[in-house]
Amino acid sequence: MISRRKLLQHMGAVPVAGSLLVLPKSLQPHLQPETGTSRDFFKELGVRTFINAAGTYTALTGCMMHPNVVEAIEYASKQYVTLDEIQDKVGERIAELLHCEYATVTAGCFSAITLGTAGVITGLDPKKADQLPNDFTGLKSEVILQKSHRVGYDHAIKNTGAKIVEVETREDLEKAINENTAMMWFLNYHSNDGQIGPEEWVAIGKKHGIPTMNDCAADVPPVENLWKYTKMGFDLVCFSGGKGIRGPQSAGLLLGRKDLVKAARLSAPPRGSTIGRGMKVNKEEVLGMLVALETYLSRDHEADWKLWEGQIKQINDSVADIPGVETEIHVPEIANHVPSIRVRWDQEKIAMTPNEVRDALRKGHPSIETVGGGESVDMTTWMLQAGEERIVGKRLAEILTGAAKT
Ligand SMILES: *Cc1c(COP(=O)(O)O)cnc(C)c1O
Repeated sequence: MISRRKLLQHMGAVPVAGSLLVLPKSLQPHLQPETGTSRDFFKELGVRTFINAAGTYTALTGCMMHPNVVEAIEYASKQYVTLDEIQDKVGERIAELLHCEYATVTAGCFSAITLGTAGVITGLDPKKADQLPNDFTGLKSEVILQKSHRVGYDHAIKNTGAKIVEVETREDLEKAINENTAMMWFLNYHSNDGQIGPEEWVAIGKKHGIPTMNDCAADVPPVENLWKYTKMGFDLVCFSGGKGIRGPQSAGLLLGRKDLVKAARLSAPPRGSTIGRGMKVNKEEVLGMLVALETYLSRDHEADWKLWEGQIKQINDSVADIPGVETEIHVPEIANHVPSIRVRWDQEKIAMTPNEVRDALRKGHPSIETVGGGESVDMTTWMLQAGEERIVGKRLAEILTGAAKT
């Protein structure tokens, strides 16, 4: 590495009594790294930042962590603990907060599904954890789920090496259960899309002694969902840490039966010879997740809701009167259950497609991210910073008005 003195000589700067002369300001950071808070890292890198009117999407880096969470992460970053001890203690505390038997922090909901499935398959035997994903000798290898629940996240189950068995009717399900059945998996978000609802799913699992798991990744709010499904009888329930809870994006929760959560941890770091070794959460995320939960649980959820509704109304009122525009305010029933707005327009009157409008929002200043298919521009406000709804409404109105056919 080039020394500071050499570098200074190289650039013709003259150190006088320890201070710098001559050196252009733009070069100084290379000599004396500034602290994080004084640097604009994204600008240095040329990375676009934006207003998030889309929601909690992995591709958009999820949510904004509450300052309490960032503080906890910083705290944790300055001392050593053992990974197992922090997981043990945080797991107990989360279980208390969420009224369930036990809990662990995972590297996201996807990781909770993989580790939970592994735990169900291996039980508390580390040698069996070592067998996954290729050697199912002496292990149950089938996980049953409803065909309508196959949206891609079941890949988390396949990562264990287990085989997916699809069913549609209750009759199918009863027939599919056999001595090789390890688990019955449920996708909460599609509760109303299959023929078998969550209560019935749990009841059938119990009748046959098969553990059940519910993927509730994006299903807070409402806050009660954090205990509703463990109380309903699901043996394992999985949540994302970095969606509505606003914890670390690289964290999640596995909640439920103590024996199964402990078994899941046999496939998680620090244990090395396991399928979950790459799903590492360190002390920072583990503590951050706990503090995110504490913070989320203590929020005034009604006030949050009113704020989001008001912001949606603000966006609505900015565009609703533009000739040809139609707006729809709605709340998805399960998953991303927050006030949302869908904006459509008559393309005979406004000469842009929704994809073009989304792109114009993205390329504008400030850049704004929204979602929606070919038919509409869709937005939520729960991931906005206070006041950004005005900018969103104004920009959308400008773009739509600007494309009006005269
Ligand atoms: C987001 C999501 C996941 C993945 O969660 P991560 O926390 O990103 O790992 C799994 N299942 C569903 C239904 C989701 O919405």
